[in-house]
Amino acid sequence: MLLNRQDSELLFESFTIPVWIFDIDNSRVYWANSAALYLWDAESLSELQSRNMSEDMSPSIRTRLAQYKEDFRRGNSYIESWTLYPREQPYAFQCHMSGVQIEQSRIALLCMDLGETKQTDSESLRSTQALLLTSVMISLYDSDGTLTYANPAARSMLGTDLTHLQARFVDDHQYPKLMSQVASIGECQIECLVNTANGQAWHELTVQFGPDAVTGKSAYLISESDISERRKAQQQAHQLAYSDALTGLANRTNLTGQLNRELKLASRYNQTFAVLFLDLDRFKTINDTLGHDVGDELLIEVANSIVNSIYETDTVARLGGDEFVCILRDLSSAELAAKTASRVLQQIAVAKKLGDRELFVTSSIGISVFPIDGDTSDTLMKHADIAMYQAKAHGGNTAMYFDPEMNKISEARMSLEAELRRAQKTGEFEVYYQPKVDAHSEEIIAVEALVRWHHPERGLVNAEAFITVAEEAGILAEIDIWVLGKALRQQVQWRQQGLLLKVSVNLSAHQFKNPDLWSIIQTELHHSGCNAEDLELEITESVYMGSDQSVINLLKEFRQAGISLAVDDFGTGYSNLAYLKNFPIDCLKIDQIFVRDDQNHALLQWIASLGRLLNVRLVAEGVETKAQLEVLKTLGCDEFQGYFFYRPANASTITELMIRQQQGLNR
Ligand code: C2E
Ligand code: MG
Ligand code: MG
Repeated sequence: MLLNRQDSELLFESFTIPVWIFDIDNSRVYWANSAALYLWDAESLSELQSRNMSEDMSPSIRTRLAQYKEDFRRGNSYIESWTLYPREQPYAFQCHMSGVQIEQSRIALLCMDLGETKQTDSESLRSTQALLLTSVMISLYDSDGTLTYANPAARSMLGTDLTHLQARFVDDHQYPKLMSQVASIGECQIECLVNTANGQAWHELTVQFGPDAVTGKSAYLISESDISERRKAQQQAHQLAYSDALTGLANRTNLTGQLNRELKLASRYNQTFAVLFLDLDRFKTINDTLGHDVGDELLIEVANSIVNSIYETDTVARLGGDEFVCILRDLSSAELAAKTASRVLQQIAVAKKLGDRELFVTSSIGISVFPIDGDTSDTLMKHADIAMYQAKAHGGNTAMYFDPEMNKISEARMSLEAELRRAQKTGEFEVYYQPKVDAHSEEIIAVEALVRWHHPERGLVNAEAFITVAEEAGILAEIDIWVLGKALRQQVQWRQQGLLLKVSVNLSAHQFKNPDLWSIIQTELHHSGCNAEDLELEITESVYMGSDQSVINLLKEFRQAGISLAVDDFGTGYSNLAYLKNFPIDCLKIDQIFVRDDQNHALLQWIASLGRLLNVRLVAEGVETKAQLEVLKTLGCDEFQGYFFYRPANASTITELMIRQQQGLNR
């Protein structure tokens, strides 16, 4: 609208309805007609013009006015319900607003009072009813924070004591923070812990600052709803995302976050901290033989042992499986990490009582220290992991600091793993057979199948050099079955040549996890045509140790089918001797270390008497000398195996040996 100023003022002056122009930029009335002066309760135009309206204007209205200016420039107009308080009394009216250009082409607000708004009875009834029935808690506080109104929902939540806004907040800092936010932008929305008549709860509060509709005085209007359930769900989701479900410890994501924060802190304050990488020794065997439930229980016990050995300010996380990581913070010296580590080792080694079972586990720990062993979370974790592998290689139940030399060993291990996978594909493995001789006739009566690797550069490699890595890399199971198939076909071939030889095949403990093990063995027997009676399976003590009924039942099934079972490396495990008599066992193979120990024959004697007690065959392995043989003969062993008689050899060498034996030419 563009009129000359005098014309328009004259025109508006003639209106009986209040008309005024509001200068948005200066927050003052620019001009008003007489009806408007009456409405505003102003003595004169100049008195009205002198009023600074910004004092009573809430920041949210100020923001809205600025927005209007833009809209008016585009020619829009609005009708809104307004309430003014000219004589300390509310006057509600329909205000028509449009834009008008005043001096210097500025846009001002042209307001016209279209008449008092009288809420119809039904409208006001409905809004009152809504206020009374809504579950949203609505309350009004005066500018001092004293409660002046509460709807029923708010009243039952507030009770009679909570009459001041400040008293609502559990956190003392919340109230002043909220007030300053409301003061600057007029309203604010927060989620916070509040006091209620029924205790503490999480509420979402929307606070608006503006005049009280009744008194016209500044007031805080608060609408709030209870979001405790939602918070609980959020917390549970957070808990799930950041902690390990089994042990309740931090999980990997959580650990990485903490480690990154610790790195920042430690570099800023020049602090030293350590990362401990912990892995249980032989946990796989426990899991494979005792079952996952027992494994899980054990992990929980181990988690407790670790937590009890470190400071509360340190962190323990479980990465999965039997791997745990600790962050030891703010160490005065790197040596302190080893002290804590040995405390952890000791706590873990204490017998764990699970139901009526007592389990002994040990662990291996690798330590890396910031900043000497790395300055990123990845390197610190990697180096602690490498050190842990070294601790394992040293027999376990020990802790080791990372040493740059270890990097080379670790790389070698990794390349061995890669080479093994390649070897499997390119067929570099071969089965060797080591004869077992009868104790009396010293004739070959059986052979043990042992895997060998024809390495393109290193030549023939013994199983010992790669079996552990193959097992950890998860490829031993396949190798075992391949060896089994080969050995069975070889046995049949020998039989067809008239050479009667029983074959033993080693089965790793890991195999017993495979639910198809029995059907695989049956298939191999079937395809080869080998009789079950001509096969012996060599199984380590750890498989029996678990006394997991399903494993024992499986072993019994093997035996019923005619396969015989030998306990390999007997004496090195932790066999519960009381159980042994209930197990399906045909043969004990006395471990080489007892055979080699020519000082201490007591153990040998004890193992031999145990064998007689159990009524099983007794095989001494690793017999290297005549002296050893003499001792073993006095103990009543049934069979011997060792370099003194024969080294492991390929199938054709064994064939020749057997033919010579038949011809009475051996030895
Ligand atoms: P094991 O079953 O106790 O086999 C005996 C090991 O002792 C063999 O080592 C054999 O070469 C070696 N040995 C035999 N007589 C003597 C002796 O008089 N003196 C010395 N010093 N050593 C002797 P190898 O072949 O290196 O195998 C090491 C272990 O690897 C085996 O111990 C067995 O547990 C495992 N293994 C070998 N082949 C397989 C396989 O196909 N599958 C599985 N799961 N394990 C295998
Ligand atoms: Mg063996
Ligand atoms: Mg052995």
